[in-house]
Amino acid sequence: MSPETADLIVERCRDLASDLSFADVAAWKADNPAGRAIGVLPGYGPLELIRAAGCLPVGLIGGGDGLEIIRGDAYFQSYICHIPRSVVELGLGGQLGALDGFVFPSTCDVIRNLSGMFQVLFADRYVKYFDVPQNFGPGLGGRFFRQELADLARGLESIGAQPVTNESLAAAIAEYDARRAATETLLRLRIDHPEKVPASEMTLLIWAGHRLPVDVHTAMLLEYTEGASQRVARVRDNPRVMLHGAFCEQPPLDLVRTLERAGCYLVEDDFALQQRWIKGQILEDPTADPWDALTHAFLTRSRHSAIRYTPDGGKGEDIVARVRNCQAEGVIFASPSFCDPSLLDLPMLTTALDDAGIPWTSFKYAENTGQFQGIREQAGTFSDSIRLWSEA
Ligand code: SF4
Repeated sequence: MSPETADLIVERCRDLASDLSFADVAAWKADNPAGRAIGVLPGYGPLELIRAAGCLPVGLIGGGDGLEIIRGDAYFQSYICHIPRSVVELGLGGQLGALDGFVFPSTCDVIRNLSGMFQVLFADRYVKYFDVPQNFGPGLGGRFFRQELADLARGLESIGAQPVTNESLAAAIAEYDARRAATETLLRLRIDHPEKVPASEMTLLIWAGHRLPVDVHTAMLLEYTEGASQRVARVRDNPRVMLHGAFCEQPPLDLVRTLERAGCYLVEDDFALQQRWIKGQILEDPTADPWDALTHAFLTRSRHSAIRYTPDGGKGEDIVARVRNCQAEGVIFASPSFCDPSLLDLPMLTTALDDAGIPWTSFKYAENTGQFQGIREQAGTFSDSIRLWSEA
C-alpha cells in the first residue's frame, strides 16, 4: 500500500460526500434485491441490528453546503438548526427514494419531530422513532433498550428484511467491531502523526462510513491508514487542537480546511459520532448472547456526549481526559447554530477546561455556512495564542 492509495481513497470519499443522489445506495440495492436500505439520522443508531437484518444502514447527515433549500425551510421556524431542513429537502426532492425506511434516534426534539413529519410526508416508507433510555441500569434502561431493538427488528421484517437471528446479529456485531478497531488504529495514527492524517481527510473517511457497507468501509479505513502512515510529511509548529460539538449536523468541509489553514492540527473530534458511539469491542465473548452484548455495550460503553445523560461532573472529567489522551493543547467548540444539546453542555465543559488550565474557544456554524474568514481569524488567533503562551 502506498501513500498514493490513501490519496485515491480520499478522492472516492469526496465523490461519495458530494453525491446527494445516493447513487451508491441505489447500486447496492440493485446488487442486493432482497436487501433494504434504511436511513439513520444522527445519534445512537443500532447499525449492527440493521445490518443483521440484511439491510444497508445509510447515515443521513444532512445536505451539506451543496444543497439549495427550497421547500425544507417551509417546514420549520427560523430558530432551529439546519439539518432537518436539508433532510426534508432531500426527501421531497426524491433523493432519498432508494431508502425503504428511516430510523430516527431520540437525539433531540428536532429529530423526534422530524420523525413525525416523515410519517406524514412519506407514509409509504417505514419510519421508526428509536427511543434510547437515559437510565443506564440493566433492569430498567436495559430492558427498555432490548424492547426497542426487538421492535425495530420486527419493523424491518415487516418491510421484507430478513428476520434477525442470534447468528446474524453476532456476525454483524463482529463486522462493526472490526470497524471500531480499524477506526481506533486510524485515530491513533492521527494523534501520533497529525501531519500525515489531515482532519479534512479524516472527516471524509468518517462520512464515507455513513454510505458504505461496513465491511467495505473497514477495508477502506485499513488501506488508508497503511497508505497515510507511509507519507513523508513535514511536521509543522502547529498547536494540537481537539474539536468538540459537531456530533450531529456536520460543518462544511471547507470549515475543517479553514481550521487547518489557520494553523491547527486537529487531533481529535466528534464528527458524526454515530460510528464511534460505543467505545471498544461489543462482542468480547463470542459465546455471549448478542442481544445482551449490544444492550450491555449501550448501557456501559456509550461515549459521553451532549445527547447522553451523564451524572454531574462526568462530562467535564471526560473532556479533560480526552484532551490528555490526544495530547491536545486546546479545544475548539464548534456547535451547529441553535443546537440546544451542544450549546447547553458548553458551560459545564468550559468550566472543567478552565479548572484544568486548558485553553478553548468556540464558534457556531451551519452545514451550509459559506463565509469562513471570521472563523479563520478566530482559529488563527487561538492557534497563535497557544503557540506563544502555552506552558509547553
Ligand atoms: S444539530 Fe443539534 S438540535 Fe439539530 S438535530 Fe442535531 S442534535 Fe438536534
